[in-house]
Amino acid sequence: QRFCLPILLYQKQEFNKRPTKIGRRSLSRSISQSSTDSYSSGMKMCTHTHTPTLWFSKSASYTDSSDDETSPRDKQQKNSKGNGDFCIKNIKQADFGRREIEIAEQEMPALMALRKRAQGEKPLAGAKVVGCTHITAQTAVLMETLSALGAQCRWAACNIYSTQNEVAAALAEGGFSVFAWKGESEDDFWWCIDRCVNLEGWQPNMILDDGGDLTHWIYKKYPNMFKKIKGIVEESVTGVHRLYQLSKAGKLCVPAMNVNDSVTKQKFDNLYCCRESILDGLKRTTDVMFGGKQVVVCGYGEVGKGCCAALKAMGSIVYVTEIDPICALQACMDGFRLVKLNEVIRQVDIVITCTGNKNVVVRENLDRMKNGCIVCNMGHSNTEIDVASLRTPELTWERVRSQVDHVIWPDGKRIVLLAEGRLLNLSCSTVPTFVLSITATTQALALIELYNAPEGRYKQDVYLLPKKMDEYVASLHLPTFDAHLTELTDEQAKYLGLNKNGPFKPNYYRRVAVRSL
Ligand code: NAD
Repeated sequence: QRFCLPILLYQKQEFNKRPTKIGRRSLSRSISQSSTDSYSSGMKMCTHTHTPTLWFSKSASYTDSSDDETSPRDKQQKNSKGNGDFCIKNIKQADFGRREIEIAEQEMPALMALRKRAQGEKPLAGAKVVGCTHITAQTAVLMETLSALGAQCRWAACNIYSTQNEVAAALAEGGFSVFAWKGESEDDFWWCIDRCVNLEGWQPNMILDDGGDLTHWIYKKYPNMFKKIKGIVEESVTGVHRLYQLSKAGKLCVPAMNVNDSVTKQKFDNLYCCRESILDGLKRTTDVMFGGKQVVVCGYGEVGKGCCAALKAMGSIVYVTEIDPICALQACMDGFRLVKLNEVIRQVDIVITCTGNKNVVVRENLDRMKNGCIVCNMGHSNTEIDVASLRTPELTWERVRSQVDHVIWPDGKRIVLLAEGRLLNLSCSTVPTFVLSITATTQALALIELYNAPEGRYKQDVYLLPKKMDEYVASLHLPTFDAHLTELTDEQAKYLGLNKNGPFKPNYYRRVAVRSL
């Protein structure tokens, strides 16, 4: 007997009262999902060798045990149960990793709730999920949740630097087939992916990808595997772009969920994550004091709004530049001075780009900045600041700290360039686990949906999450705040023309909501 997911998942009251004794794979049928963006530079490049991304900006890590230089590929390791189907740096770090995972669990309430609610129901029973994401404590919580929901998982890292070795060890100790370590070579990277998929007697039927490299590998090496694959869940800008390209070329042979563009991702990852991490990134790299400092933020979209709000709260004087009159008006109404960059460039202490555009800060602007001006980027691409224009013979570069360069003009003026113009928060600080929880929950639900969807619901195309599912992800995070949601009365529901259980907003609300904070 199978249950319809909306019944199970969306009827909150019902759901809260039971876990019912329902049959196999009952949790789902129709939640008709995601970055951790892989903010790698350039859509056509592989993501794994580029900028650090959301899931791995962990500062407190035991990963740096560089005492053992032997490649994990040359080691024979087994966990305490004698299982050796993994390849990681050092299984002895498992206890440290377990602690990291337990800490992350505290801030990932929805995944923990999914585990509880799925007791007795295994909506992913029979699912064989092959994953390629950053291997961090937060990913571990996701993987262990998928396992609790019934899935078998094999995992590789989507970035050669991002693996928390101790977490990989804890996962391997727990029986997961993980193939990843921090500092893989290019060859190791593809070897690890291959070890995940190329196994006698085991074929994946679901893909969870971040950046599209795993999907690409299977397309290239094992196209026949797609006969058994029920769907792809992709969470990065880059990977989603690749999927749309495949779809356009008529080459996408299974349904795919675009988690990157879900409302919960856009609203929480872009806005709140940046609001919380901009100060952290600036502080760790420069120890700057924010009170009274003059800051110009280029772009007043979600990321810009988050940065401006944080800086304003710290007492900075914030200027905004915008090209879009609506966002510009929002900036004005929020109390920021809307200016052209040139008007303030001589006086500001900090310049932050968050436009998703290129050449927003060019050499001419950099020439006019005052001594000590801090320049950084929070947008996807490292081309927002024309860093290449600073590589000229008359300028001297001095690396003063990790990720901090002083660029020195002939007259002695210095500007402080952070992370060489790559995303500041993802390169130099941590990001809140709670935000990752929202993304990870969406990924888990997207997997459940695609795995359980009846034949024909999804074609060979790229799908966005239905609003109802986004609402469900949000609702799972509300108890953390002891938040009490108001329920529509029958009369009100009728008046608004809504189902009492949602969705509560039309699809076109997405963009309005995102824009208007
Ligand atoms: P958005 O589209 O909501 O906002 C970007 C804003 O920049 C828009 O309002 C646009 O009008 C404005 N803009 C474009 N060109 C400009 C220019 N030359 N000068 C001034 N303003 C300009 O996008 P968003 O969600 O705010 O994301 C912005 C970037 O940050 C994207 O590249 C996104 O991928 C990235 N991002 C970063 C993080 C992070 O953690 N650092 C998180 C999410 C997204």
